[in-house]
Amino acid sequence: MTRQRALIFEIMQNHPGHLTADEIFALAKQRMPNIARGTVYRNLKLMEQANEIARLEMPAGPDRFDKTSVPHGHLYCDGCGELQDIPVVGLMRELETAIGTQVRSYQLTIHYLCPACRRKQAQ
Ligand SMILES: [Zn+2]
Ligand SMILES: [Zn+2]
Repeated sequence: MTRQRALIFEIMQNHPGHLTADEIFALAKQRMPNIARGTVYRNLKLMEQANEIARLEMPAGPDRFDKTSVPHGHLYCDGCGELQDIPVVGLMRELETAIGTQVRSYQLTIHYLCPACRRKQAQ
């Protein structure tokens, strides 16, 4: 593993959210001022291919990256674009019972309005 890849991995593990490639680049540059944008993009692609991280296609805006490739669902706010993890183990068990076999992989994004956006709308 290169120094750059280790740094990108560390940045992602220490960040609570789902970062875009540009956000990861900005954080990496603070720690390694001469790191190139292309290096960050290339490493993200390699890490995605190695199944260390996951790339999330967003309904609006650039893709974001997930620090884990362990499957989980996401809550997406249509108002502000905030993205949160949600556990869906129970839901997947129900689905597996319904289809009579194991779910091999899934992508699940639930659209909603977060509390802050709901408050804004109510005003
Ligand atoms: Zn919101
Ligand atoms: Zn996630």
